[in-house]
Amino acid sequence: MSINQKTFFNWGRNTKINPKEIFPKKLSDLKKAINEKSFISTGNQRSFGDVALNDKLIISMRNFKKVIYFNEKKGIIELECGVLLKEILPIIVKKNWIFPVTPGTKYVSIGGMVANNIHGKNTQKNQIKFYVKNIKLLTPNKKIILCSPKRNKKIFDLTIGGFGLTGIILSATIQLKKISSFYLKQEIVEFNTYNEFYNGAKRIDNFEYSVSWIESFTDNKISGLWFFSNHANIKKNYTSFKIFNEKRIGVIWRLILGLIVNINFFSRLFNYFYKTYKKSFYKKLVQYDQYFYPQDYFIDWNKAYGKKGMFQIQFLVPKEKFKDILSKIYYFFKSEGIFSSFVVIKKINEKGKYLNFAGKGYSVSLDFIINSKFDVLKNFFNEIVRIDKLKVNFAKDFIANESYAYNFKEFKKFKKDLLILNKKNKLNSSFSKRINI
Ligand SMILES: Cc1cc2nc3c(=O)[nH]c(=O)nc-3n(C[C@H](O)[C@H](O)[C@H](O)COP(=O)(O)OP(=O)(O)OC[C@H]3O[C@@H](n4cnc5c(N)ncnc54)[C@H](O)[C@@H]3O)c2cc1C
Repeated sequence: MSINQKTFFNWGRNTKINPKEIFPKKLSDLKKAINEKSFISTGNQRSFGDVALNDKLIISMRNFKKVIYFNEKKGIIELECGVLLKEILPIIVKKNWIFPVTPGTKYVSIGGMVANNIHGKNTQKNQIKFYVKNIKLLTPNKKIILCSPKRNKKIFDLTIGGFGLTGIILSATIQLKKISSFYLKQEIVEFNTYNEFYNGAKRIDNFEYSVSWIESFTDNKISGLWFFSNHANIKKNYTSFKIFNEKRIGVIWRLILGLIVNINFFSRLFNYFYKTYKKSFYKKLVQYDQYFYPQDYFIDWNKAYGKKGMFQIQFLVPKEKFKDILSKIYYFFKSEGIFSSFVVIKKINEKGKYLNFAGKGYSVSLDFIINSKFDVLKNFFNEIVRIDKLKVNFAKDFIANESYAYNFKEFKKFKKDLLILNKKNKLNSSFSKRINI
């Protein structure tokens, strides 16, 4: 088992910590490690916020990498927690299967995806929890529990979207999705008004995936592109399935992206050109990687945000409040000279338990560089979330306080039920402390 004691950043590069970090290779090492009083287990540290940070001990599960079972006929796969999506995709795609839900990057581990209950661009059943058949969990008192929707259901529900606070996920069995090709038929629809945006949103039932990218918004205008897609039913050779090469941003792109995320003028210019270029491909056949993981084009784009890093806030707005909330944000941006470098909106209609990011309406996510306006921004979102009782996606969050959590009606129950497993609060993170779990 290797041990690291060096300072490192989270993905958002907004928090620098200096914990002991260990990399167990086998169960006996892991059992020894969890004798410690305070720790959190991690996957590939791709969370934007601080759910995977503990300033005492981080147990990295990256060495647990086996494919335990793969039924190629039924598409049922059991994977150890440290397997990355990037590593398993080429194997399953060649057999006509994909992950049923995927986040916007493939550099994530199975354990991290389950513990954060990731969502993607699916127009229905857009949470990994719907496809997890069972989980093998090592509890803080060293028991291994098999949980599923039928067996130890409470532990199963607490663990998916439990932010690593119930124990260490050793492996998960997932029901994969059958595909006829790794190409998608993509349609791009431009919108320049709220009505056009809503009309686009009405079309999502015709598609398996959808997402909207926002160029700009004001109190009476919103412009951007809806991206819709379905798997294409075409014959292609699966052995030619490729994923982007791992490319680093390099000096020039770091400079260009640095300008875009720092200066509103460049951000607007970039967005204008991006939209003009993209909308010319009204209908296009795209490869799996291009549709789901455009952000993986540079694997270290987070460095473009400079020394203090970035944060993302993602919240759920009911349709009737959508225009009103975006207007509030627009006026606030205008008065403070703030802008968001990347705005994405998805329509969602999802059931959830405990702290799952679920409900009905629009999920709005905004990326920000951290600079002198950080406190003003934080206070503003604190107020909006409190007054409008919005649900925040804690898996990505960096600014929430305890009061955000009470917008989830099962927050108290989550805390209480967690005591079944994490009585001594051994498993804790900067996030769990921040919202007082
Ligand atoms: C470019 C980009 C795009 C993204 N897009 C999306 C998106 O569309 N949708 C979305 O939902 N998320 C998205 N994310 C966030 C990211 O996908 C999730 O945070 C993911 O869960 C991170 O996986 P990880 O392996 O890096 O986990 P980590 O960040 O290392 O850990 C995440 C959580 O899981 C826990 N954990 C990790 N491994 C284990 C284990 N074995 N047992 C118990 N707990 C464990 C940790 O304690 C922590 O609470 C995006 C991130 C990036 C960088």
